[in-house]
Amino acid sequence: MRRGPARLVLLGAPGSGKGTQGAALASRLGLPYLSSGALLRRQAAAGTELGREAAGYLDRGDLVPDELVVALLRGALNARPSSGGYVLEGFPRTRAQAEELEALAPPDAAIFLAVPDEVARGRLERRAGQGRSDDAHREVVEHRLARFHDTAKPLLDFYRKRGILVDVDADAPPEAVTAAIARALGAGSRPSLG
Ligand code: AMP
Repeated sequence: MRRGPARLVLLGAPGSGKGTQGAALASRLGLPYLSSGALLRRQAAAGTELGREAAGYLDRGDLVPDELVVALLRGALNARPSSGGYVLEGFPRTRAQAEELEALAPPDAAIFLAVPDEVARGRLERRAGQGRSDDAHREVVEHRLARFHDTAKPLLDFYRKRGILVDVDADAPPEAVTAAIARALGAGSRPSLG
């Protein structure tokens, strides 16, 4: 196994807790936290060329085209020390993105946060009103859930074949999920949360 700081990706449906767990893991491990959704929303809010191109996809809950997301993530990954670790959330979402990440900085573990759709819907409903327009419209939430189901299997297969997929039951309170991730990672040789 590669030595050095951990490189973790978090996979899961909208509402699975990727952002919450990503931030918790990054702070616990002292690693940079990268969220493709947050990076995209920042570009859109700033009105950059990339942000303007991405905005319609974000509003509809469609996946932003690979070339735009990959360009953004390449920049963010290259901005960290090349030997360093990361906690990456929301990326990859397609097989092409996963292959791009292999070329840039291959992850040590891909953590899949599994939740039933009903649980994800309930969490997104409670989050609606906190500023994200794509959480506030039921049809956009449904579209994002559908996009997740369209794209999840090839990604999970990709990481299962690489032997780094970690399945976690994410239908539990946030601290319990963080503890379950820590246990699952600690059970392998690396990366360990100590
Ligand atoms: P998230 O914050 O992960 O829920 O993502 C919010 C929105 O950002 C998604 O509905 C997509 O429009 C876009 N997005 C985030 N990450 C990606 C990605 N890796 N590939 C394509 N679109 C993405």
